[in-house]
Amino acid sequence: MSTELSIPQLRKTFKHIVSPKDADYDKARTVVAGDIDRRPAVIIRTTNANEIAQVISLAKETSLPLAVRSGGHSVHSVVDDGIVLDLSLMKDLQIDAKTKTVWAEAGLTAIELTSATLEHGLAIGFGDTGSVGIGGITLGGGVGYLVRKHGLSIDNLLAAEIVTADGNILQIDETNHADLFWAIRGGGGNFGIATKFKFKLHDLTQAYGGMLCLPATSETIASFLKEAGSAPDALSTIANVMTAPPMPFLAEEYHGKIIILAMLCYAGDANEGEKAIQAFRNIATPLADFLHPMSYSEMFPPDDPDYHPLAVSKNMHLDYVDESVAETMLKHLNQGTGMMSVAQLRVLGGAMARVPADATAYAHRKSKIMANLASVYQDISEKPQHERWADEFQNAITQSNKGAYVNFINTVGEKELEAAYPASTLEKLRLIKAKYDPTNLFKMNQNIFPINL
Ligand SMILES: Cc1cc2nc3c(=O)[nH]c(=O)nc-3n(C[C@H](O)[C@H](O)[C@H](O)COP(=O)(O)OP(=O)(O)OC[C@H]3O[C@@H](n4cnc5c(N)ncnc54)[C@H](O)[C@@H]3O)c2cc1C
Repeated sequence: MSTELSIPQLRKTFKHIVSPKDADYDKARTVVAGDIDRRPAVIIRTTNANEIAQVISLAKETSLPLAVRSGGHSVHSVVDDGIVLDLSLMKDLQIDAKTKTVWAEAGLTAIELTSATLEHGLAIGFGDTGSVGIGGITLGGGVGYLVRKHGLSIDNLLAAEIVTADGNILQIDETNHADLFWAIRGGGGNFGIATKFKFKLHDLTQAYGGMLCLPATSETIASFLKEAGSAPDALSTIANVMTAPPMPFLAEEYHGKIIILAMLCYAGDANEGEKAIQAFRNIATPLADFLHPMSYSEMFPPDDPDYHPLAVSKNMHLDYVDESVAETMLKHLNQGTGMMSVAQLRVLGGAMARVPADATAYAHRKSKIMANLASVYQDISEKPQHERWADEFQNAITQSNKGAYVNFINTVGEKELEAAYPASTLEKLRLIKAKYDPTNLFKMNQNIFPINL
């Protein structure tokens, strides 16, 4: 029989509780996605691994669903009528500049960690957005501006502390609980709650990059992707082929038209970076050029915490984008049903591709280009129409690679799991799930159901 949840009782055990009656409840249950409006029974902000173990016991005693929140950027970290374990107070950070490593608690955001390590001239790559939580992005993989130079976030993960479903607090790495350490590098939050991570850091005292806007034609898009693929590993790029917002620096004739709004980051000597980036400036006369020598932290301008867009998106991988593919992209983008249509193209390769596909649970190592197709819209009742647009767009450009990146998949199910993980990876993940979470306590995620063969 399950125990009833009593907020006054909980307040005796946990210091930081947010209940539906509290003034900050609405803020505390909000995630980035504007179409997620779930009402948990309680939000518990933990401060250490023992408290996390107590929340796990509570979830078992009450049989309430348990969601885990680090930065709240996914659609999974809040649950109706359940418990949200919120890690956002856990922000301890121990940088060892000598060994170039950091122990970082899972409540830190990417920019909090990055700003701190950059003070020592050191960095590790997360994504393209500073406010993403290091918890969710790391457990799914982590594809950012250093992906070609230093690989995914998980390629720099040396160890972690995990509280498992039985309440044990485990120190895991390549030799201790190696199976679990393999699984958390790409398998998401399925296997336990990560309290802290140990990352390897890299020297990064200079960078060259920023935003470059180019006109979008099939030629410029294909050229951009070609240059990005042959660029040195130090240069990672994100080309957003998208509806131009009415940005003041952009000539009015382009507002609402499809342009390339690209973010480029050369992680290293600024002069070398400028040389490497020249090829992109040569593609066409830029509509706007904000590329400059910079500190890496400038790649992450502050984002608006109150921005909760309504959006549908599809993640996929592409083998190539030639003029014909680019032409198809432009056709669909121009027929976009929302107020903003985007094909975000990230050329991968470099360090991430040199890691063997079976070394971690992130197996899409040889995928050449990651594409995120999205429509940002205004009225929730119109969602089906935008979903249709995104489906048709995806179908029109699908190539041989049917994989997708788990952290960018916003719907859940078997189809999504199969896209996220090749069959052999998924089977191994299910077995490890059965060992560490046999009752599937951690299911608010791209859920890997446990199996015992
Ligand atoms: C604006 C935006 C930009 C993005 N850009 C990038 C990008 O450039 N590169 C990229 O790789 N991804 C990117 N993402 C995707 C992002 O990596 C995922 O949404 C990720 O899950 C977010 O992590 P979080 O901690 O903020 O999210 P949360 O919603 O808090 O958590 C995400 C998932 O991880 C689980 N989880 C979180 N922390 C823990 C923990 N400590 N222990 C166990 N489970 C945990 C949660 O239960 C949930 O299932 C972006 C997302 C957004 C919204």
